[in-house]
Amino acid sequence: MSRPAVAHIRLDAFRHNYRLAKKMHGGRALAVIKANAYGHGAVQCALAIADEADGYAVAAIEEALSLRAAGITAPILLLEGFFEAAELPEIVAHNLWVVIHHLWQVEALMAAQLRTPLTVWLKMDSDMHRVGLATDEYRRVYERLQGHPNVADIILMSHFARADELDSCYTSRQIHTFHTAIAGINASISLSNSAAVLGWPDAYADWARPGIMLYGANPIAGQEGQLNMPLRPVMQLTSAVISVRTVSMGEAVGYGGVFVADRTTRVGVVACGYADGYPRVAPSGTPVAVDGKLTCVIGRVSMDMLMVDLTDLPETGLGSRVELWGDQVSVNEVARRAGTIAYELLCNVKRVRFVYTD
Ligand code: PLP
Repeated sequence: MSRPAVAHIRLDAFRHNYRLAKKMHGGRALAVIKANAYGHGAVQCALAIADEADGYAVAAIEEALSLRAAGITAPILLLEGFFEAAELPEIVAHNLWVVIHHLWQVEALMAAQLRTPLTVWLKMDSDMHRVGLATDEYRRVYERLQGHPNVADIILMSHFARADELDSCYTSRQIHTFHTAIAGINASISLSNSAAVLGWPDAYADWARPGIMLYGANPIAGQEGQLNMPLRPVMQLTSAVISVRTVSMGEAVGYGGVFVADRTTRVGVVACGYADGYPRVAPSGTPVAVDGKLTCVIGRVSMDMLMVDLTDLPETGLGSRVELWGDQVSVNEVARRAGTIAYELLCNVKRVRFVYTD
């Protein structure tokens, strides 16, 4: 028998979430499947919606090429564009779309000898202050690119810094800044990430770019722990209890002895640790479900194992199935306990067996 740690990837849930994103936002949607589809498997996720996807978005040309090699023909956007002009011929050859976020890319694109013109997503820095053209140079760049023989079409885009905070006016200000800067330009627009699809209808435009919601995690602050929402978790991370022991009150469990039993405690050892992507910093008390019943992690998570409290679950034991996150325990809740976000936990899952169902 192989090690019982498994990431179950439910592709029907991925498809459901993509449809939901499109239905909420309207228009077209690029499925953001960078970073191996946030750890879920980019090719599998892309193929699951291949019949209906308007397009995909990735960060690196290698990611795009592996999708093309798997037979994906829909548009694929490179979210950071190209990193050197030498990439342009390959981008053209594989019919990829590029984000242009910096003046050096504008110059490189205009100077290149291309066989076919490119579709360009022109990114504005509407006050996230990460990447994007400044508002006062945006229109000038648009006008230079428009009609240039290397440019097929231009989509106007920006990205939100705080769309997950529904009580902040920052997103409204970004939307206003964006629309003021593009006033009078007649082109397609894309603003919404998942948080905006879920919470900012004012941002809706021609194209959405949902990522995390496709994997079933709600990024809106205060709603992260929710399991009963129309989004369906795609990944269920499970393993099994491989050892059980009872410790007396006052005895410490695991590395560092950070958990000390305050009663006679039945300890289950689960084959999943930080080398599988479960966060080492998840403290005692982080929820898990054992044979469908909620209990919690105790002690420090180790590389290959973690411990859970089985004291109140006498019917559980060796071989019991443990859900680390998925349907009963939200990945957002584990992330919150670990002081991080679901994005990071999902991207970090490795070594476990991936099992896909459709
Ligand atoms: N658009 C851009 C430009 C991004 O960088 C990302 C992800 O970081 C997304 C969309 C998707 O964001 P989310 O996963 O929050 O929906």
